[in-house]
Amino acid sequence: MIVDSNTLDNKFRETADVVVIGSGAGGAPMAYQLAAAGLKVVLVEDGKKFDISSFKRNSWEAMRDMYRDSGTVLTIGTPSIPLPLGNALGGTTIVNSGTCFRVPEKVFNGWKKEFGLNELSYDRLIPHFEAVEKMIGVADATAETVGSNNILFAEGAKKLGLHPKPLPRNAPDCKGAGLCVFGCPNGAKKSMEQTFIPAASENGATIITSARAEKIIVKNGQTIGITGSFLDENKKKRTQFQIDSKAVVLSCGAIHSPYLLLKNKIANSSKQVGQNLHIHPAAKVVGIFNETINAWSGIPQGYYVDDYADEGIMFEGFFLPPAFLSFALPASGMELKNLMTNYSKMAGFGIMVTDSSHGKVIAGIDKSPMIFYNLNKTDTSKFKKGIEIAARVYFEAGAKKVLLPLIGIGEVNHPDELKILNKMEIKPSQLELSAFHPMGTCRMGNNPKTSVVNPFLETHDIKNLFIADASVFPSSLGVNPQVSIMAFSLWAAENILKTTFKV
Ligand SMILES: Cc1cc2nc3c(=O)[nH]c(=O)nc-3n(C[C@H](O)[C@H](O)[C@H](O)COP(=O)(O)OP(=O)(O)OC[C@H]3O[C@@H](n4cnc5c(N)ncnc54)[C@H](O)[C@@H]3O)c2cc1C
Ligand code: SF4
Repeated sequence: MIVDSNTLDNKFRETADVVVIGSGAGGAPMAYQLAAAGLKVVLVEDGKKFDISSFKRNSWEAMRDMYRDSGTVLTIGTPSIPLPLGNALGGTTIVNSGTCFRVPEKVFNGWKKEFGLNELSYDRLIPHFEAVEKMIGVADATAETVGSNNILFAEGAKKLGLHPKPLPRNAPDCKGAGLCVFGCPNGAKKSMEQTFIPAASENGATIITSARAEKIIVKNGQTIGITGSFLDENKKKRTQFQIDSKAVVLSCGAIHSPYLLLKNKIANSSKQVGQNLHIHPAAKVVGIFNETINAWSGIPQGYYVDDYADEGIMFEGFFLPPAFLSFALPASGMELKNLMTNYSKMAGFGIMVTDSSHGKVIAGIDKSPMIFYNLNKTDTSKFKKGIEIAARVYFEAGAKKVLLPLIGIGEVNHPDELKILNKMEIKPSQLELSAFHPMGTCRMGNNPKTSVVNPFLETHDIKNLFIADASVFPSSLGVNPQVSIMAFSLWAAENILKTTFKV
């Protein structure tokens, strides 16, 4: 059953085996797996429910309604980086690009080496990856739907000796409408509100939207439920609720899970809650061509190039509606107006960096978390290299001009002009970045002194309090994280069933 909290009584009180907080890539598979095993599950989600009919509105409305704070979340530091988060039933998956990768085995083995994770192995995760990929319909982007934006970059990349590939995605019936990050208007993207959430509901879970968890109740070292507020239409608190339960799973994402723990002053004997934030910072390079490309038509993120993945540089397609792209271009006023007259001749690709930089989330004095993050020299160098490669790819593909995300060198008109990059030192403050993958702020490990949860994702400090979301990953993944978050959530669910409920 999926219910809006506005249909429920004031001072609502319910009992459950497990309360799951958050309905994104971590929370939705958890609720499904536990409900399918016969447990009484209540999932509370701070955002509202949206469906295909509501996705047909304009992109600004989608940002306002489905993104936290209308998409204005920013990191504080150098450079300041927009970090949009989903805030709806389905979490950030409802507004994501649909790219699906498993965490690389090499990255996972690095975690094992540094943090133990004794009970966990890559082989044990494989059935969970497979279950996730089946549920959300992962398949490679097809030639019919990738569109000219991706094809052009692929052609240029091949000329440079690189190896572009179609991206695996969870949109098996994709029609290439190009609006994934505003909610797929065709219902083709199999995000959580279309897959694990209805499956959880069919298996008896109660899913309450516009319901914000505020307090995790702890008694004698173990959790016994939560309290929170039901929200009205304008996201203002309407009334309090309480859910008593044997276990609580925190799946609010890598910004809001640590925020809730810090606000509650719990599970932080390691002092690692909110620390070790990685975000996969990303930069955009735009090529301008003589011919019409109509890059908006087709999958925005349809191809990738991973030839430099071992150096922490990944290239993935992107494109945006004109109003949003104009924000990302290195111009203003008449110059921007003139640039935007070329919109139909533009193509865009992103550079995503496996960040060794790390930041932190603190509770602060305001009602929102504060996010601090400074880009280090190593990651700045990765961007310098990645930007140059992407620009060269576009010139190989026939671009007459390439726009760079670099304050000071906004555009280049010939590949020779890129030589200037070799001579100059780029400062982090010159880079125009965004980021979409916060992780790491409640990291897992065997040692309670250096990690927040154990390899079964139970907090070291509080019995029956689990965390299943992007916050548990101890380092930057190097690939888009949603499938890994879902698979780890199923792994944790399997162990909750065995150890806490003896199912
Ligand atoms: C524009 C964009 C594109 C992306 N593209 C991709 C992609 O192509 N592939 C990929 O793998 N990843 C992508 N991502 C990232 C991916 O979607 C996220 O990493 C993933 O959804 C995170 O899962 P999560 O469970 O940690 O958090 P989320 O999915 O963000 O879910 C957390 C949920 O908890 C809710 N919540 C928070 N606090 C509370 C509270 N106190 N009470 C109740 N509910 C609460 C939130 O409203 C939210 O719904 C993209 C992200 C963005 C922003
Ligand atoms: S490209 Fe269009 S049809 Fe395909 S998943 Fe994205 S929004 Fe849906």
